[in-house]
Formats: sequence, structure tokens, C-alpha cells
Amino acid sequence: MDFTLPEELRMLRDNLRRYVEKEMIPVERDSVTDEEELKPEYREKFQKGMRDLGLWMYDVPEEHGGQGLGVMARCVIWEEMARTIAVPARHSEITGPSVRAILYDLPEDMKQRYLYPVLRGEKHACFGQTEPDAGSDPGGMRTTAVRDGDDYLINGTKRFITGAASADFIQLMAATDRAKGSRGGISCFIVDMDAPGVKITARFKTMMGDRPCEIHFDNVRVPAGQRVGAEGEGFKFGQKWLGIGRLHHAARAIGVAERCLGLATNYSKQRVTFGQPLSQRQSIQWMLVDSFVEIKAARLMLYEAATKMEAGEDVRNDCYVVKMYADEMSFQVVDRAMQIHGGIALTTDLPIERMWRQQRSYRITEGATEVMKMVIARHVLKSY
Ligand SMILES: Cc1cc2nc3c(=O)[nH]c(=O)nc-3n(C[C@H](O)[C@H](O)[C@H](O)COP(=O)(O)OP(=O)(O)OC[C@H]3O[C@@H](n4cnc5c(N)ncnc54)[C@H](O)[C@@H]3O)c2cc1C
Repeated sequence: MDFTLPEELRMLRDNLRRYVEKEMIPVERDSVTDEEELKPEYREKFQKGMRDLGLWMYDVPEEHGGQGLGVMARCVIWEEMARTIAVPARHSEITGPSVRAILYDLPEDMKQRYLYPVLRGEKHACFGQTEPDAGSDPGGMRTTAVRDGDDYLINGTKRFITGAASADFIQLMAATDRAKGSRGGISCFIVDMDAPGVKITARFKTMMGDRPCEIHFDNVRVPAGQRVGAEGEGFKFGQKWLGIGRLHHAARAIGVAERCLGLATNYSKQRVTFGQPLSQRQSIQWMLVDSFVEIKAARLMLYEAATKMEAGEDVRNDCYVVKMYADEMSFQVVDRAMQIHGGIALTTDLPIERMWRQQRSYRITEGATEVMKMVIARHVLKSY
């Protein structure tokens, strides 16, 4: 396999890197509020910048007015964007509306009500799977959707839902057969957030600034036509976008790590202790070298998975592997950069402390490391 980026992707990467360095990094400590919201003046500025770079709706298929860029191009974009904390790590929308892949699978009448308004920026969506008693193991979810004539009645509670406070509808996972659980018992619904019985009951404060919500569903009546796909097929749809989501995690993780390695290396050359720059100490060099090698390994894994995904191969296991490896690697690299900088890394003068908090969170969300290992173990035990 040849992992040299083709000319057009190298150009894309270089242009985006220049923009990030010139326009984003200098303002990165000012552009995002304490609650990880982009300030309106920066949202406007960055959105214009992305349009000028030709990156507006880069991940939306061409037939829907987007650029329809491939998986590898997206990985390059995600990595470059992650080099700065100028945009929120979750939920930034500076390259256009965030369109959940599932919306492209809706029948035409549902596309009219959900997909097209999202593409026009008129509606926003969130995704609800996690519950107070079911996170890593969504098959055990207690939110039920019980058929009642032409409708379903939905009851239960979803927790930690990103973007729920500003969402017009939720892509909701609910149990239509609790006995079957993840083996055909979970279905996916589109539910309007203003439907009678839907209530946001809590908004959490997190160490990253994200404010995910808890949502209660009390006898919410949803027409059967709002179910996506057949009953019991909810996980099938979830898997469709979770794979690319894991590559997104990995690419982000690599971008963050690369920035921190640069910061740590430069700082180690300047900072003198006991008469010598830190960069002359073997213990510091080894931290830099470990980071360099691990970033390289993660990038190769990412490019391999992206290439295979683009070729239509089954990359589920590759996605677990690279998500787990890159998220763990990235946290270690940020942590080393923090150690090398000493006290200044703990201040908000540098981006390191925010990256540290973010990367710590990614070892838990969207598939904790242990859960990734659990599914990779199945592959290993079957293959050897
Ligand atoms: C900021 C934020 C945003 C989020 N956004 C969303 C969202 O938009 N939509 C949504 O549905 N969810 C969202 N989540 C939920 C997130 O995906 C879950 O928190 C995550 O999946 C872990 O679930 P849990 O918190 O219930 O932990 P649990 O499932 O209770 O797991 C706790 C810990 O146990 C360990 N563990 C679990 N299973 C195993 C195992 N089999 N073997 C060994 N160890 C194990 C892991 O270390 C794990 O961290 C968000 C969470 C946060 C914090």
C-alpha cells in the first residue's frame, strides 16, 4: 500500500494548515466560550474562511450541494483542524451543518421534513442512545417504543446528549424488544424535540466545557412512519456512521498530538534548567521520540483504515483498533507535553490544558478504550 497523500490532498492539507496557523491559532484562547460555544463573530469569520478554502459542506454528497469528499480527504481535514482549540472539539459546524449520515437514508417525505432543512441550516439534530443505566452496553437500554396502532409510544430517559438544547429533533434509539436487546431489539426513530412529552430534565457541566443534556420521554406518541428502517434495525443504522466516527476520533487525536509534539519540542530547546536545555536530557528526548513514533504509527493505521473504507472493505475492526490506539496515544502525548512544559502548561496561556481535558474525555466517550478492546478481543480470538 502506498500511503503518500496524492497531490490534491497535500494541497488541501497545506492550505488548511496555513489557515489554521494564521487565522485560528492566534485567537484560539478567545474564540470559544467557557461552555465550548464558538462566539458568533468567530463563527462567521471561520465559516467564511472555510467557504474560501472550498471546504463548505465538504462531507455532504454532491447531489445534496456538498463537496462529497472521500474518507481520506476527510481524515486530512479532521487532523488539521484538531491542531487548534479555536473551534469546539464537539459540535462546531464551521464547515456547514452537521448532517447525520442516517438522514440520507430517509424516504423522500421524511427528507423534506428533516434532511433538507438541516442542509439549509434551518434545523439541528442530536443523537440519543446513552441512558443513565446503559452507556457502553446500549443493548440494555430501558427506553421503550411500544406499538400502538399506527404510532409508537416512547417512554424512558436519555443522558449525555450533545447538542440537545438547540436541537429540533433527535435521532433516538429505543427498545422495541427488550428481550432481544442489541440482537434485533433496538429501533431508530426521528422524534421532534417539541413533541408533547419530550422534556430536557438536566444539562450537565463537564470538565471539557461541553453541556450534554438529559432528556425524558413521557408517553411520546410518534407515527410509525418516523421509524428509520425496519423494526429492530436500529443498530444496523448506527453502525453505518459509527465507523467513520471512529476514524474522525483518530484523525482528531493525531492532530492534537502533532501540535503538542511541536510545542513540546520547541519548548524543550528553549527552556534551560541546571545549565542545559531540556532537549539535551535523554529523559526528555525519549518522551519526544515516543510521541513521534506513536503519532506515526497511529497515522499509518488511520490511512490504512481510510483507504480500505474507501475501497468498500469491511473495516469495523480497523476502526475499533485505530480509535482505541489513537485516543490513548494522543492523551499520552498531550500529557508528556504538559510534563515537559511544567507549570506553564497548567495555565490557560497555552492550549495544552484544554487539549488534555478533551483527550481525556475521548478515552471514555463514543466507545471507552476497554469496550474497544473487548470487541477487538473477539477478532483476535477468532483469527489466531
Ligand atoms: C461530553 C459527552 C458527550 C456525549 N454525547 C453523547 C451523545 O450525543 N449521544 C449519546 O448517545 N451519548 C453521548 N455521550 C455518552 C457517552 O458515549 C457515554 O458516556 C459512553 O459511551 C460511556 O458510557 P457510560 O458513561 O454509561 O459508562 P459505562 O458504560 O458505565 O462504563 C464505565 C466504564 O466502565 C468500563 N467498561 C465498560 N464496559 C466494559 C467492559 N465490557 N469491559 C471492561 N470495562 C468496561 C469503561 O472503562 C468505562 O469507561 C456523551 C458523553 C459525554 C461525557
